[in-house]
This record gives sequence, structure tokens and C-alpha cells, in this order.
Amino acid sequence: MRSFSYVRPTDVPTAVRAITGSPNAKFLAGGTNLVDLMRQGVEHPDTVVDVTGLPLTTVDEQPDGTVRIGALVRNSHLAAHPLIRTRYPMLTLAILMGASGQLRNMATVGGNLLQRTRCHYFYDRTTACNKRDPGSGCAALTGYTRNHAILGASTSCIATNPSDLCVALRALDAVVEVESAQGRRRVPMARFHRLPGNTPSVETTLAPEELITAVELPNLPMAAMSRYRKVRDRASYAFALVSVAAALETESGVITDVRLALGGVAPTPWRASKAEAVLKNALATTASFQAAAEAELAEAVPQPDNAFKVDLARRTITATLQRLATDGSPTKQ
Ligand code: SF4
Repeated sequence: MRSFSYVRPTDVPTAVRAITGSPNAKFLAGGTNLVDLMRQGVEHPDTVVDVTGLPLTTVDEQPDGTVRIGALVRNSHLAAHPLIRTRYPMLTLAILMGASGQLRNMATVGGNLLQRTRCHYFYDRTTACNKRDPGSGCAALTGYTRNHAILGASTSCIATNPSDLCVALRALDAVVEVESAQGRRRVPMARFHRLPGNTPSVETTLAPEELITAVELPNLPMAAMSRYRKVRDRASYAFALVSVAAALETESGVITDVRLALGGVAPTPWRASKAEAVLKNALATTASFQAAAEAELAEAVPQPDNAFKVDLARRTITATLQRLATDGSPTKQ
């Protein structure tokens, strides 16, 4: 690991000042991804700004019913928080199905938003990777692709976003609050992550000097009956092959509102907008759920080792919606 300087500010303005004008500086929170990347030589900041001393550690209900989550709230704390368990169970379930207990105790909400892909070629510096070394190529295109994307990829990169938490945030239409020397701004989850296109090394719309300070969840009553279902190779400590975050609202058997997002299948947490369009005002039946899944996956482009993901996604979407339609009660998968 290369040497670097280290600072630990205790307020947001000082943290922002510490990184302003230092393009090779990085914010450090739980360290569950950045430290690994530094050890592997994939990331090599010259300055590390440890933000764990900042006062961004609370979960608060606002007067308008929205819920504001400080960027440094640990994943395990967020999953267990009564406001999240009762009003946004898909978020609790998504967190509990990610990583391990020890990692969830360290990882933060802000860090999770910036979690980088687990494409094994990205971590292997002996291979070509446009995300790690722009312009070098993509070893995955001719390599092993079981865990790679079937939606939203490009000829430059087919990696998936590894986050579970972000899939739920995408389904919930969360908003990310960021701060820099230019002031504060709010970024909807829909515009936070970028598709790879020709520049897969640029993964979000954040400027390098912007610090994530909070995530805001909307006041969304239908989310109280939401679910997160994750299919993976092991029962714990494994990234999603396919995951589904969903909320469904029905009236007399007709779907009046729906939220649906997918994980493990795309370079970003993937909002299933085509499926949602099929479901709105449709009967809440298995046939509708299957038609919605078909619509979303019609443009899937599988790789040689992951064609199974298309059918797996179709069945996981259908099963999750069926379960919501029949009892709505979230249980851990
Ligand atoms: Fe790198 Fe993306 Fe190709 Fe993986 S899929 S090797 S992250 S460019």
C-alpha cells in the first residue's frame, strides 16, 4: 500500500475544506470497501479524510413525514431502527441480506452509496479493466461472466453494482444530500449512479469534492408493506445474482401503485420502469406479474455465463409480487 496522509475532522465544513483542491484525496467512512481497494492497489489516494468523527449518525423523522438518515449511520443500526423496520421494511431486509454482521456493524449508508463493483477483474491488476485503468480494455468481455450485468451494460464495461441497500433506496425514490465548498445540493437516487457508457470509471454524478451528508426517504405509506428478495449462491455473505425490491398498492384487486427495483443485474441499482408501467392499473394476478417481468427483461443482453439470470430475474420478480399481493408481510428470505 502506498503511503498517504490522514486527517480526521470533526465537522462537515472542515471535512469539505480538507478535500477541496486535492483531486487524489478520498473520504473514508467504515472502510469496508476503500481499505480493500487500497490494499489491492486499485485505489491510491494521497490523502485520506476520515469522516467518522462527523455528527451525521442519527435517523430522524421530519415534520413532513420524511425520514432523514445521516450518512454515517451504520448499516446494522439502520436495519434495526424502528422507523425503518416499520415504515420501510424492504430497506431493513436489503441491509440484513448484505455482507456479514461484522461488516454491517462497520459499513455506513454514505459508503454503501459509493461501493464499487465486485467484478473480479477490477480487483486483479494483472488484467485489463476500463473501470480501473481507463482505456485498457475489459477482461470480462472474454472472461468469466457469471456475476455480470444483463441490463444497462456497454461494450466498455459489463460489471454490476454490488449494493443491496441502494436497490431499496432506488425503489423508494430516496434523495441523497451532498455538501461541498459550493454549498449543499440534493440528488435523487435516479440520478445518483451512472451507466458505464464509454466512461465506466465514472460511477456517480458526484463531483470528487462532494461529501454525502444524508439520505432522505419520502413519506411513502405503501412502503410499509414492502419486501426485498435476494437470490445468491450462499445463504449469507454473498452478492446478489438477482435481487428485487418491491412495494405494491392495490384496490379491489387492481394495482394502483407499484415500486420495483432490481439488483445484481445492472451497473446501477435498476429501477424496473417498464415493468411498473405494465403493472399500473392491471389486475394483481400472476399473469400481470409475469407480463411485467417479460417487459422489463425484453432488452436483456446476457453474457455467455449468465444467461440464467434472465429467467431467474423473471421468476424472482413474479414471486416477490405474488407474495406482496397475497399477504404483503415482509419476512427475511
Ligand atoms: Fe473492468 Fe468493468 Fe470489464 Fe469488470 S466488466 S473488467 S469492472 S471494465
